[in-house]
Amino acid sequence: MIPGLPTVLTLFSFVAFVFGVQYFHHPAGLPTLEFDFIVVGGGNAGGVVASRLGEVEDYKILVIEAGPSDQDVFSVQVPALAADIWFGSSVDWNFTTPPQTNTNDRVLEYPRAKILGGCSSHNDMIYNRGSRDDYNRWASTTGDDNLAWDQIRPFILKTEKWSSPNDPSFSEQGHFNTSIHSSAGVLGVTAPYYNHPLNDLLLKATAELSDEYPFLQDLNDGRPIGLGWGQATITHGFRTSSSTAYLANSGDNVHVLLNTLVTRVTSIDETGSNDFREVILASTPEGSTMKLIAKKEVILSAGVIQTPQLLLLSGIGPVDELKALGIEVFVDNPSVGKNFSDHITIPIKFSTDLPTSSFDETAALAQWKSNHTGRLALSQHLPQIGWVRFPQDSPPFKNGAVDPTAGPDSPHVEVFFVGVSEGSEENSTLSMNIVNLTPACRGSITLATSSPFNQPIIDPALLDSPLDTAILLEGFRSAQRLLASNTLSEHILGLDTPASSSSGTITDDDVI
Ligand SMILES: Cc1cc2nc3c(=O)[nH]c(=O)nc-3n(C[C@H](O)[C@H](O)[C@H](O)COP(=O)(O)OP(=O)(O)OC[C@H]3O[C@@H](n4cnc5c(N)ncnc54)[C@H](O)[C@@H]3O)c2cc1C
Repeated sequence: MIPGLPTVLTLFSFVAFVFGVQYFHHPAGLPTLEFDFIVVGGGNAGGVVASRLGEVEDYKILVIEAGPSDQDVFSVQVPALAADIWFGSSVDWNFTTPPQTNTNDRVLEYPRAKILGGCSSHNDMIYNRGSRDDYNRWASTTGDDNLAWDQIRPFILKTEKWSSPNDPSFSEQGHFNTSIHSSAGVLGVTAPYYNHPLNDLLLKATAELSDEYPFLQDLNDGRPIGLGWGQATITHGFRTSSSTAYLANSGDNVHVLLNTLVTRVTSIDETGSNDFREVILASTPEGSTMKLIAKKEVILSAGVIQTPQLLLLSGIGPVDELKALGIEVFVDNPSVGKNFSDHITIPIKFSTDLPTSSFDETAALAQWKSNHTGRLALSQHLPQIGWVRFPQDSPPFKNGAVDPTAGPDSPHVEVFFVGVSEGSEENSTLSMNIVNLTPACRGSITLATSSPFNQPIIDPALLDSPLDTAILLEGFRSAQRLLASNTLSEHILGLDTPASSSSGTITDDDVI
């Protein structure tokens, strides 16, 4: 035994506690009830905002998160296990939509993380900055030039901490443009991949279809059009998230209260003006509630569904909707919960003579546990992603429909590839997924009841706009062109889905 070692360890753990972010599992454990800022929702945005505010040492910040710590959930840490916790899991809200009229009345499961880090703790980890047009459109729409691509780029670099994959067999040479990345930030990013013959075939196809699928060295250069290697928020075999990159590195002036639901925000001004700085908390529907007041501000960062839900529960929203549920109205704002939009994906499954992309999961788990390498250290997708921009005279725009993208450097659809069957060394089924990146449909978030413990009505109104359908159909035709290239076609044995319902030709109805 080394003399003095226990003392050293005790000292170190004391130091970690004093200088690091502090986590609490119950409001009763909080060391103080006085906070300058209360951040509601410790998700992707909330984690970053709280951590950045915490850089001002004099501020005391409280983050309130409905779910548990991400550090307590194994599948959060291991990149390829993300999908295990999307459906029916205790760290997802397990939301569903109402029947979606334009998708044969299908009720869709709607994953949203209920855990520290929010969806950055369970999402697909694709690291995609978007197109320069998107930022420039936000700048011109808001009149705030700081949001323009050239202005925002230094901040993107400030967030990013590029690292090479920790598995030496994954060479990333030529997979990204080093000059547009940074290793000085905090959010771990890498360009991971695993060997599969589809990788080389797709690269060859980019030469053959260089108009529609040119090779794209880096999807984050502001003009994501073409096909190239994906990038992911993964570091040394672990998922990175707003919790691991931001909150975990905060000081002891940042407090994180877990497993606690904010049920409402209320005004502290009894004279009738609106000064919404009080939050009401509860851990269970039956349990007691508690009030906390922020000295400076309450920041709502409960995500795209629950931020409007909280506003509505707090009497901020369309007056008729609130009155119908007996909620006292403080601010009549007809926009709350409106213009909800999400992108839709259609999968195309095709059988090939390529070897399976599946793997021995038990062995992979053992490998990950031993040194954080192998297939579980990567995203579950095949490594390449495509971004396609349709010409202005292509079918979606023939009837005069206005192009919904932000400009000529923006793609209409994203395509990504996933292995979907066990298969063998001689054949396997793969899936190519088409995502409409700029949906025109607009749905809504409305309250079903006045209880904060009931899910709101989440209606993305999918395919409510004929343009969305037209873009997905053109995405499907574009995928067909890629699969029909000389390079790929000799390895494609057939299309499994969508299947032709009658004549052997796949109709638009078969696709949608
Ligand atoms: C399945 C899936 C895959 C995705 N894949 C990708 C991808 O590959 N790449 C990418 O860039 N994006 C991806 N996204 C999208 C991305 O993760 C989200 O856009 C982003 O995380 C949203 O951040 P947010 O802070 O707005 O909300 P969230 O990250 O959802 O955070 C909201 C937080 O608030 C908490 N909360 C909610 N209500 C309350 C309340 N009343 N009281 C207390 N806490 C509350 C929630 O539990 C949650 O932790 C994916 C999303 C999903 C669902």
